[in-house]
Amino acid sequence: MFNQKIAIDLGTTNTLVYDSKKGLVYNEPTVIAIDRKTKRCLTAGQEAKDMVGRTTDNIEAIHPLSQGVISDFDSAQKLIEFLFKKIGINRKSKPRVIICAPSGGSEVEKKAVEDVAYQSGAGKVTVVDEPIAAAIGSGLSIGEPVGRMLVDIGGGTTDVAVISLGGIVLSTSLKVAGNDFDEAIIRYIRNSYNLLIGDKTAEKLKVTIGSLYPDEENKKISITGRDLVSGLPKSIEISSNETVQVFKTVAGQIMDAILGVLEKTPGELASDISLDGIMLTGGGSMLTGMDQFIHEKTGVEIVKSKDPLASVGLGLDIIAKQGIK
Ligand code: ADP
Ligand code: MG
Repeated sequence: MFNQKIAIDLGTTNTLVYDSKKGLVYNEPTVIAIDRKTKRCLTAGQEAKDMVGRTTDNIEAIHPLSQGVISDFDSAQKLIEFLFKKIGINRKSKPRVIICAPSGGSEVEKKAVEDVAYQSGAGKVTVVDEPIAAAIGSGLSIGEPVGRMLVDIGGGTTDVAVISLGGIVLSTSLKVAGNDFDEAIIRYIRNSYNLLIGDKTAEKLKVTIGSLYPDEENKKISITGRDLVSGLPKSIEISSNETVQVFKTVAGQIMDAILGVLEKTPGELASDISLDGIMLTGGGSMLTGMDQFIHEKTGVEIVKSKDPLASVGLGLDIIAKQGIK
């Protein structure tokens, strides 16, 4: 009946959309730009993200999600309406939508995800637990009576789940993830150099030279911010090894959540996990040394998802194609 099946990973940081017939059709930051006066959505995605910090008073850039949940329903709806239009879906086509909600989220939060899809024009909506989608999209076979552990380090939240027989046995969601590395480096540079850098600069530093372990190469990057003493722009050089301790502090908090779940995992399932390893996914897991860090602290092998930024969307797409009730 529904010939158009649309899978939506509405992430805090990035939104990915798969059309079951066409594959990946949308992959952009979860940001919209609205006109303050008319409240109309001017643009969304990368174009809107580029406006952050550069907008005039008339334009407001909004993040509809915060730490895994919809924090601005109206903007979330505008974002989905925008992307539906962009990928050529009109309201009349009433697509079948498969979308995810964070595990451990409240019923109200789940309902908000479902409602936002309906309000944006979906014909029928199925909400899937995010760790289930991430596990399937990472290639884990979760239908067997075998314990699997999934760690999804996104932008705003880290989700840790133990899955068996297709269901979540236990899980936790921590409001510390990829973006917290950026914030930590901003604080460090302000305190050590009296230099205020922006979010984008911090993220670039993290992605290009960030690491949880020192190495001989000790790569350097030049960054520019505002000198807090003179008030003027200033550039400094930051080296990779210098950031290790800053990033380790944040990674340590993520580690505590993983250890907390492992400690509560029933014995049989824990032994399955120690045999098969922990599946690591989400953009935040791409920080250099993250796999080694978790391995060292848990003693368990780490399996890295092939496409950490896309695993949730891929999983939803697989569920859509297999047919859902
Ligand atoms: P969400 O599910 O919250 O939308 P994602 O899984 O898309 O989040 O991950 C976004 C996070 O991943 C951001 O904090 C981003 O800075 C981080 N990230 C993306 N690529 C890398 C990389 N190569 N190294 C470190 N962090 C990265
Ligand atoms: Mg995600």
